[in-house]
Amino acid sequence: MLLTITTTHMPADDLGFLLHKHPAKIQSVALTAGQVHIFYPEVSAERCTVALLLDMDPVALVRNAGPQGSDFALEQYVNDRPYVCSSLMSAGIAKGLSSALNGRCKDKPELIGVAMPFTVRVSVLPVRGGEALLQSLFAPLGYTINAVQHPLDPAFPEWGSSRYFTVELTHTLTLQQLLSHLYVLIPVCDNSKHYWVAKDEVDKLLQKGKDWLETHPARELIVRRYLKNQRVLANQVLEVLFQHEGTNVQEPDNIAEEDQEPTSLPIHERRLQAVRDELLVAGAKRVVDLGCGEGKLLKLLMTERQFGYLLGMDVSYRALEIAKDKLKMDRMTDKQRERIQLIHGSLTYRDQRLEGFDAAALVEVIEHLDAPRLKALEQTIFEFAKPQLVVITSPNAEYNIRFENLPAGQLRHGDHRFEWTRKEFETWATAIAVRYGYHVSFKPVGDADPVVGAISQMAVFSQPVPQPGLE
Ligand code: SAH
Repeated sequence: MLLTITTTHMPADDLGFLLHKHPAKIQSVALTAGQVHIFYPEVSAERCTVALLLDMDPVALVRNAGPQGSDFALEQYVNDRPYVCSSLMSAGIAKGLSSALNGRCKDKPELIGVAMPFTVRVSVLPVRGGEALLQSLFAPLGYTINAVQHPLDPAFPEWGSSRYFTVELTHTLTLQQLLSHLYVLIPVCDNSKHYWVAKDEVDKLLQKGKDWLETHPARELIVRRYLKNQRVLANQVLEVLFQHEGTNVQEPDNIAEEDQEPTSLPIHERRLQAVRDELLVAGAKRVVDLGCGEGKLLKLLMTERQFGYLLGMDVSYRALEIAKDKLKMDRMTDKQRERIQLIHGSLTYRDQRLEGFDAAALVEVIEHLDAPRLKALEQTIFEFAKPQLVVITSPNAEYNIRFENLPAGQLRHGDHRFEWTRKEFETWATAIAVRYGYHVSFKPVGDADPVVGAISQMAVFSQPVPQPGLE
C-alpha cells in the first residue's frame, strides 16, 4: 500500500529537512501491525517525492484489533486491510513523520510555515460514499481531486464499481496542514470497522483537526466516522467544536445508548446510517422522511445539528403514535418541537406539505406499496414535492438466497409486495431519473457479496445544480 507526496517547491529537496528523513536513506518504522517504509523515489532541486509504503502484518492486525464482530466468520483473515490505505496509514504518518505532523523542523525551522505545492497520490483508498464523499471532504479544504474508481472485477463489468479509488490530491499548503488532513480524512473515507477506537482518539482528533475541522462543512460526518460512530466520543469532540456557537450537540436528550459498537450494528442501523451520511454529505437541512414508520431515521437525524427541520410522514397512525413516543415528543422543549413534526398522509396522493424540502428519504418503503401504486408515489415525490435530493433504499432480492431460513421465492417480510433484484431496482430508478430530470447513482448497503450483492440497495437521486451562464 503506497502513498506518495510530491512537491515542486524550490529547492524541492527541502522536503527531506521538513520530514527529518534523509533523502538517500530508506527508513522503516514499526507499527502495531506491520511496518511503514519511508523512502524517496525521486529527489532533485525541482521535484522531490517521498513514499510511504505500508507493509501490513494481517495476523498481528487480528491479534491487536480489539473487539470484532462480523457476519462473515473468516473476515478477520480474508479482508482488504493489507491492500488499502486505511487508519494504519494514519498510524504510519503519526509514527514515521511525527515531527512534520507536529510542525517541527530542526534544521530549517523557517520552512514550517511555508505553503508549498503538493501532490498526494494514494494507490488504493477505500471510499464509502464514492466520489461525492471525496469531494465533500477535500474540496472545502482547497484540494483539487482526481479520483479513478476501480471496478469490482474487470472481468465482470456487470458487477459494477468497487469502493476502491486511486486518488490524487493537489493543493498548495504547509506540510503540516497536508499531513493533518491526511491523518484524519483517510480513515474517514475508509470508514472501516476494522479498528477499535480508544478514548485518546478524541484528543488526537481535536489536536490534528485544530485550525480546520471546526469550520469544515462536513465536520459532523468527519467526527462521527473518525470515531466509528461512537456517539459518546463523537459528541465530546462536537461539543468542543461547537462551543463557540453556544448550543448543545445532542437534541433531544435521552437517546437510547444501544448500538454503540458499530462492528455489531444490525443491518437496519447500517441502512439508516448510510442514508444519514448521504443527507449530511449533500448538505441537506430540511429533510422529510417518507414512510417514517416508528421514527428510527428521524431519531438518528435529530442528533445531527445540520438538520434544521425534520418532517416524518406515514400512512399508519399506529406507527406515528409509536414514533411520537420513541422520539419523546411530549417532553420536547418548544425549540426542539419546532425542529420536528410528524404528519399522517399517503405517498400516493399529491401533498403540498411535502414541498420545499432539501431532501426526502424513503427507507424500505417502496416495497410496501402495490407495484401499480408506484406511479402515483413517483409523481408525489418527483413531480410535485421535488426535493433536491431523494434517497431510496429497498431490499436486494438477489441476497435472499443467503438467508438460510427463507424458502426460495419467498419475500423477507409479510407486508412486502415485491422485492427487486439490483437490475430491477436500477431500471425503475433510472427511468424516474430520466423522466423527472434527476441524476441517480446506486450504492450497496451492507457488505457487498461479489455474487449476489449487498443485503439492501440504495438509489440517490439529485437534481443537477444549475450552472451560471449555461442556460
Ligand atoms: N422507514 C421506516 C419504516 C419502514 S416500514 C424505517 O426504515 O424504519 C414501511 C413504512 O412505510 C411503514 O411504516 C408503512 O406504514 C409506510 N407506508 C406504506 N405505504 C405507505 C404510503 N402509501 N404512504 C406513506 N407511508 C406508507
